[in-house]
Amino acid sequence: MEYCLEAKSLCKQYGHFKALNGLSMRVPRGAIYGFVGRNGAGKTTLLRVICGLQKPDGGEYLLFGTKNESADIYKVRRRMGAVVETPSIYAEMTAEENLRMQYHVLGLPSLENIGELLQLVGLSNTGRKKARNFSLGMRQRLGIAVALCGNPDFLVLDEPVNGLDPQGIVEIRELILRLNREHGITVLISSHILDELSRLATHYGFIDGGTIVKEISAEELNAACRKCVRLTVSDTGVLCRVLDRMEQEYQILSDSEADIYGETNISQLISALGAEGCEVIPLHEHDESLESYYINLMGGGRHD
Ligand code: ATP
Repeated sequence: MEYCLEAKSLCKQYGHFKALNGLSMRVPRGAIYGFVGRNGAGKTTLLRVICGLQKPDGGEYLLFGTKNESADIYKVRRRMGAVVETPSIYAEMTAEENLRMQYHVLGLPSLENIGELLQLVGLSNTGRKKARNFSLGMRQRLGIAVALCGNPDFLVLDEPVNGLDPQGIVEIRELILRLNREHGITVLISSHILDELSRLATHYGFIDGGTIVKEISAEELNAACRKCVRLTVSDTGVLCRVLDRMEQEYQILSDSEADIYGETNISQLISALGAEGCEVIPLHEHDESLESYYINLMGGGRHD
C-alpha cells in the first residue's frame, strides 16, 4: 500500500501541554481520509505540522515516503495543497487575480490552467467581484482553488464545511468527490461533522488527546455499523449449523453471542434452534451509526 502521509509517534508540545501525543496515522493514496475529533483534540496541530508550518518535537512523518527531516521534503511538499484554518486568499482581489498571484508565488510559468481551475471550483462567473464580497462557501472554494494551483496529488482541508449553509456544504462535498474520483487527488479532511464525513470518507482516523485512537476504512466501519440482529444462545455450535443451513450471513462474537446480518426469519430460526436443543436468551436489533460508533469509541458523553 502506498501512503501520501505516514505519521509515526508524532509529538508537539505547547509549554507542558501535549497537543500531539505520540500520534501515528497513515493516509493511503487515493483515499478521502476523514480526520475526526472533538475541539482541541489536535487536528489542526497535526495539519500544521505536516504542512511544514510547525516542527514536531518528537516522532516523524513521511510524505510520499520522504521523511520530514530529509532535504527533499520541500520538493515533495509541492505535491501537496492545503487549506488550514482560514483560506489564504486576498480579499481585495478577484478569484482570477488570486489564482494568478498564487501561480506567481509558486513560480508557475503558464497561466493556462486558471480558467479550468475556476470552472472546477464553480467560480468562473465571478468576473470583477472581489473575494471580500464572496459568500463563505465561495471563499472556501477559492481557497481550495488556490491550494490546487500547483496541481497537487494530496489535498489537506481543515474543517472545509464549517459554518457553511446546506447548499455550500453540498458544493464542497461534490467538489471533493470530483477531485478525488476524476482527478485522483488524495484528500485529508479534518471535521467533527460526522454525517457529512460519512458521505465522503473512504477511511477514518479518530483522534483524541493528541493521539489516534482508531484508524478504520469506511468498509470496515460500515460492516461494524450494519443493521443486524444480535443473538445470545446456549450453544453457538448449533447456531452456526442452523444459520449455515438457512444461508444466513453472521459473525460469532463470543461463545454465546452472534450477529446475524440481512433479512432474518426470526420465528423459523428460533424453532430450528429449539429443535436442536439450543436455547435463545435475549435477542435485539443492533444498528450502529457513525455517530454512535464515535461516541462509543470516545467513551461516551464527555464534553470539553
Ligand atoms: P478544533 O476542532 O477546535 O479546531 P483541533 O482538534 O484542531 O480543535 P488544535 O487546534 O490542534 O485542536 O489544538 C489542540 C490543543 O492545543 C488545544 O487545546 C489548543 O488550545 C492547543 N494549542 C493549539 N495551538 C496552540 C498554541 N499556539 N499555543 C498553545 N496551545 C495551543
